[in-house]
Amino acid sequence: MTISLRTDFPGGNGQLLNADKIKGKSVVRFAAEAKNCPLALWFHFRISGLDGTGLRCVLTNPEQTLDGADWSGNCIVYRSGGAKWIRTKKPERINVAGGRCEWAWDIEAGDDEIEVAFCFPYQLADLEATLDKLGGTFSSTTIGMTPAGRQIVRVFNQPGKGNLPGVFLTARHHAGETPGSWVLDGLLRRVAAEKRLHERITWWAVPFVNLDDVVDGSYGKDPYPCDCNRAYGPGFPRRVEVAAVMADIRRLQQAANCLFFADLHAPGHNEHKNYVPAYDWRKDSSDNSADEKEFAERFCALCPEDIRSPLAYDTRQGALPGPYSGFASQRWAATVLNIDAVVLETSYQGNGKTYYTIEDYRRIGAALAETIAGGVM
Ligand SMILES: [Zn+2]
Repeated sequence: MTISLRTDFPGGNGQLLNADKIKGKSVVRFAAEAKNCPLALWFHFRISGLDGTGLRCVLTNPEQTLDGADWSGNCIVYRSGGAKWIRTKKPERINVAGGRCEWAWDIEAGDDEIEVAFCFPYQLADLEATLDKLGGTFSSTTIGMTPAGRQIVRVFNQPGKGNLPGVFLTARHHAGETPGSWVLDGLLRRVAAEKRLHERITWWAVPFVNLDDVVDGSYGKDPYPCDCNRAYGPGFPRRVEVAAVMADIRRLQQAANCLFFADLHAPGHNEHKNYVPAYDWRKDSSDNSADEKEFAERFCALCPEDIRSPLAYDTRQGALPGPYSGFASQRWAATVLNIDAVVLETSYQGNGKTYYTIEDYRRIGAALAETIAGGVM
């Protein structure tokens, strides 16, 4: 049977260069597609026609991925027959003619079709499955439309109340950063499981800010026409998705007793750590970053030891010149709304000792729920 590569499903990304059966193994050389972005990173595809052979997947364009060609510590994920996602082992470096290198992951024989992704995928269906499981603690509502006409969803446990603190969370400003989604998934589960968390705090979350790129399988960092997380002014919002999110954050700020904002991301593809980036723009504002660092250290301490990050926060130059002149959501929330606001970067890989599973991301999300609650209650 001929080997083929499919991406005709939500989040699909990957281009087949060639496929061969070599010594009883199917070898598939593929490229991560940049789509509407200057650089690629996300991929998620299904290979069929394997006839039960083992699969070797070769990433052919690592230089075109954000943060570059060193994929030596990156374990990608796969599943067969709709079973659980599994991480591969580390890749083999393949030196190719002309001085380049490519990276190859070996996957054990399974069904005729094997599904492969850069990291654990998280789509609308995954969110819906989690919300169904949580027994109605969270409802969802539409807060606006994307350029392609999709509905932007906000999930919430209750309307804003003047006697309760509010928490607003966002994920997937950068569409391929699925660790942020699994962390949010774990947070929602913890909040639903703990009465004190869902009765005494109002939680609102926009799980997919750049929903079009999530569904289209684009990495969504610096996409055309503008990065969602550089679109928060100054002046008017530069993305229609962001206009909806800004209005919704203001809505909760007005209704709640106080508001805390957290934006969930993933760092470079080969960073084995989670951290709160402490941006230097705070130096110029009346705000200071002490609260953010204190938050980061409490969060790090609450994470279970086996998955705890080797560092809590990372000092960053955030006020970049050039095309990144627009504010990120956190900077807008901290300086325009004048509320406590943090970003959390959660690794695609792990903490340098443990490669994270989906359950590990959820445990990080549970720790995040407790850290936030400890700060606002
Ligand atoms: Zn990001």
